[in-house]
Amino acid sequence: MILYEFKCAKCGNFDAFAQMGAEHIACPQCGAKSSRVLTVPRFHLDGTDPAYSTAWDQWANDHERSAARGWAKVKEHGSER
Ligand SMILES: [Zn+2]
Repeated sequence: MILYEFKCAKCGNFDAFAQMGAEHIACPQCGAKSSRVLTVPRFHLDGTDPAYSTAWDQWANDHERSAARGWAKVKEHGSER
């Protein structure tokens, strides 16, 4: 799951976890179908290889606060998977 930004026509923008590549989810406040705002996912940092997205997502959930610092370490581990 990745934290995306969505926009509800009634409630405005909100952040929500969704499946990778999800385009629409129900608004958590009113249930209306909301479209994903086309911004870079929060965890998708510059230079991220898409192949790492799943592992990166799990890792980021555990280490969100130190994500920016720890990302260099993740890259060092390379393509173990
Ligand atoms: Zn809404």
